[in-house]
Amino acid sequence: MSTPADSLLDIRTRLRSFADERDWDQFHTPKNLAMALSVEVAELVEHYQWLPTGADAELDEAKRTGIRHELADVLMYLVRLADKSGVDLHAAVLEKMELNRLKYPAEQVRGDARKSTEY
Ligand SMILES: [Mg+2]
Repeated sequence: MSTPADSLLDIRTRLRSFADERDWDQFHTPKNLAMALSVEVAELVEHYQWLPTGADAELDEAKRTGIRHELADVLMYLVRLADKSGVDLHAAVLEKMELNRLKYPAEQVRGDARKSTEY
């Protein structure tokens, strides 16, 4: 059975091949990848600019396609950056979610969107 971690590993493998086939590995430094990731996040955000909430009912088909493609771009650069930085992304997410669970105990913060420093 395939797991979420397997999906990330499959994407990582595909991105390695894509870069190798083009001799682009030389350009994929952590700094360059972090900058590219930031650009892709901005491209994603641009689709929501000036919309009331960005909920699906406010989007036309072109916007939905654009958002789907930018989400893919963000994930690809994130996975590639983690790969080139020696980070196991799935393990890092589990680690950070445990830290967040301890920082924001459900019984203490339910329905409260403030940061932990504000309550
Ligand atoms: Mg893009």
